[in-house]
Amino acid sequence: MHAGKGILAALTLSVLSAAVHAADPIVVYTARIDELIKPVFDAYTKETGVKIKFITDKEAPLMERIKAEGANTPADLLVTVDGGNLWQADQMGILQPVDSAVIKQNVPSQYRASNDSWAGLTLRARTIVYSPERVKEGELTTYEALADERWEGRLCLRTSKKVYNQSLTATMIEANGAEKTEQVLKGWVGNLTTDVFPDDTALIQAVDAGLCDVGIVNTYYFGRLLAQKPDLKAKLFWPNQDDRGVHVNLSGVGLTKHAPNAEAAIKLMEWMTGEEAQRLFAKINMEYPVNPAVKADETVAAWGEFKADSVPVEVTGKRQAEAIRMMDRVGWN
Ligand code: FE
Repeated sequence: MHAGKGILAALTLSVLSAAVHAADPIVVYTARIDELIKPVFDAYTKETGVKIKFITDKEAPLMERIKAEGANTPADLLVTVDGGNLWQADQMGILQPVDSAVIKQNVPSQYRASNDSWAGLTLRARTIVYSPERVKEGELTTYEALADERWEGRLCLRTSKKVYNQSLTATMIEANGAEKTEQVLKGWVGNLTTDVFPDDTALIQAVDAGLCDVGIVNTYYFGRLLAQKPDLKAKLFWPNQDDRGVHVNLSGVGLTKHAPNAEAAIKLMEWMTGEEAQRLFAKINMEYPVNPAVKADETVAAWGEFKADSVPVEVTGKRQAEAIRMMDRVGWN
């Protein structure tokens, strides 16, 4: 009798633990703030019943944490912005490749790692913002032309410490070569109106206020500011439309090397690149869908269509160190 009870108890326990296992939440470490990612996770849970636990922090501590946790990490997915950061995560050995036909179908190849270690979720353009009161029609052409004398004392830039500018520089090196890019960066630094800005929003505000005539910023910051200040005078310009196009970067996702719930996590990754999630992202983030089947949200679409640089975004990682050294050499603070 006692033995029988023991077997029953053991059986019950193992059934229970299987049930608990099946309901294990997917754990996401995300460098995106709650309001930009939670609605997407909530929609997934509502549809599938699968729970998602997420921890929000800056990308560097999240990546260090995954590395330190090693095989014991609870994290299944890392979500962060910028190809430069995702490439770093892969270099740290904290991601594993996901070979998914769904992701390959939904995400164009230039927005994925060539080794499948991460895939884009949303796109953002890093483009020119200008004051229509202080910049004449036809004056703007390319990023490179902002190095010309005509922009002396008129250009504003964000700090070179931000990965966004490192990534822009990396893709310029890829397109124009190191020598030409260094000349351009020197020209930019020589044309600065004032010290570099700590963030894109402050830069757009300075253009709006007439302190700077032109600057380079990510589109969604412009969108967020416009939502708060509908009478914003600053405008966006799409440069390099006769050559390589506008610099586009992304937010993306990678499966961690030791993901405890990998199968479920891959399903979530696939879903996030699909149409429903892409529409949600486009709306809440004011970014561009990475999935070409989904249109940009109305507000974003109103800024106009543009040709985007088709360079693989992983170039931002591959040439990051070179870009940082170059920015340092030309005195871009
Ligand atoms: Fe940002």
